[in-house]
Amino acid sequence: MGKKDFEIEKNELEKKFGQQPTDQDVLYSLFNKLVVQTSDFQDLKSIYYSMALFLNEEGHDSLNANRSSAKMGLAALKNFGVKKVEILVNSGCEECQKLAGQIFDIDKAMTDLPIPNQACKYDLNNNDKPLCRCEYLPVIDD
Ligand SMILES: [Zn+2]
Repeated sequence: MGKKDFEIEKNELEKKFGQQPTDQDVLYSLFNKLVVQTSDFQDLKSIYYSMALFLNEEGHDSLNANRSSAKMGLAALKNFGVKKVEILVNSGCEECQKLAGQIFDIDKAMTDLPIPNQACKYDLNNNDKPLCRCEYLPVIDD
């Protein structure tokens, strides 16, 4: 996806709405198209995470996109036969440190979704919009 796709999408949206869309509208629309075209969980995880990063940079709430990313990541792990996951904390946020190393059954992680942590204070872009960067790691037991 590149500049050309952006321009094409911009024209399409302009026709549809009868006015020039904002760059943000164009990007959001492109993201949504990508999601619809993608069926691989790992790819979906990346797309949703890019969406979360983008929303965060723009000063919007990114939690839903980040949660979708986490769910897709768990679905990918489950597909590989992973049964348990451990929480890897990637930020110094105190709230997230409490979760460090905790282990969950993968099904429980998928329903409860302990991360992204809704109490996370990690302010990636210094705009008072936290973005939890914690991750699930597969637990391999023997
Ligand atoms: Zn976190």
